[in-house]
Amino acid sequence: MSDKKTALVISAHAADFVWRCGGAIALHQKLGYEVTVACLSFGERGESAKLWKQEGMTLEKVKTERKREAENAAKALDVHDIQFLDLGDYPLVLDTDAKYKIVDIIRDVQPKWMMSHSKYDPYNTDHMYTTEVALECRMIAQAWGHNPGQKVLGAPQLYLFEPHQTEQMGWKPDVFLDITEVWDKKRAAIECMEGQFHLWDYYTNVAQNRANHFRRNSGGQSGGRDAKYAEGFQTVFPICTDELA
Ligand SMILES: [Zn+2]
Repeated sequence: MSDKKTALVISAHAADFVWRCGGAIALHQKLGYEVTVACLSFGERGESAKLWKQEGMTLEKVKTERKREAENAAKALDVHDIQFLDLGDYPLVLDTDAKYKIVDIIRDVQPKWMMSHSKYDPYNTDHMYTTEVALECRMIAQAWGHNPGQKVLGAPQLYLFEPHQTEQMGWKPDVFLDITEVWDKKRAAIECMEGQFHLWDYYTNVAQNRANHFRRNSGGQSGGRDAKYAEGFQTVFPICTDELA
């Protein structure tokens, strides 16, 4: 059996993985993981306002442009594989066959950990729906009766990455990841999102603030790590360990 380390990020729209966990992706690629990103849609209707303001814009043109941006960002983060499921956005709706496609991806990747959105997001129901789907598909992938003979999924953690307008989402981080050593890659990926220029500095700021929390929670001025950039995550499942840290 292969002992390669893998991870899977399930992103509602083409850009979400960049802002919310680009550092985790680049860092784990550096640590020897193969990180796969599944984009359920391109965010073509709901997260592409700048493109729609251009004259003669069509849905196909927007999708093409968003795909190009996401592929460039994925390259900047050293993503192992990015898959576009093109399921539509605003609203994002998955039928059972679409869910089975995600189950296939999960079983194929056999991730050590998974990542998706916050559980609650009244501003963007596609986001919270994606997490509901991620949990549902994780459950199906664990079912011995689903496609018997395929390798059944273990119990990867689902990390919920940071939403926009954090406090409105009931999202509470319990993990901080120091991404200082890969910050240049994350910033380069952020800058691939040309249509969302207004978010570039906002998410730089978020990373700097989370680094402050990393420093405080790793010991502060008494031996804390001098992180400059960090990302926060909320775990869904208990952590099983042999030694408390
Ligand atoms: Zn989104």
